[in-house]
Amino acid sequence: MSGNRTFTMIKPDAVEKGVGGAILKQIQEAGFKIIAIKQTKMSLEQAGKFYFVHRERPFYADLCAFMSSGAIMPAILEKENAVDDFRKLIGATNPANAEAGTIRKNFAESIDKNAIHGSDSDENAQIESNFFFSETERF
Ligand code: GDP
Repeated sequence: MSGNRTFTMIKPDAVEKGVGGAILKQIQEAGFKIIAIKQTKMSLEQAGKFYFVHRERPFYADLCAFMSSGAIMPAILEKENAVDDFRKLIGATNPANAEAGTIRKNFAESIDKNAIHGSDSDENAQIESNFFFSETERF
């Protein structure tokens, strides 16, 4: 059975464009409750740790540089079947392939500047949530 929480992060391209609020509105209207949220910025070292699973991929260095280039908005979200439903809501990694109405179709520019992150499993949702939030920041 899948869990009821996932982790997301509005990426630097979307925060810079000022569409963080519009993205959160779409997330809430899709039935997700915000359990924790903040605006912060990762160092290059922190981005390297967050994306460590991708360390062998050719775009790892570019990804870490981009994700530490500006403000981000990490959040923990709650809804039944959260991980899968949220992946559907954000759409394909490359916005060119994302379905109409998805967050990436609405707000992303390209495969690297793709507006938003969504955890790909319950286990990673928990690891990623713990990366940014203490227990006292969750309500
Ligand atoms: P996601 O789960 O849909 O975010 O996709 P992945 O886990 O496959 O990749 C993680 C992140 O790496 C993506 O969201 C993109 O920001 C970035 N990424 C994926 N593919 C590429 C690529 O070909 N080039 C670059 N520069 N970034 C990529």
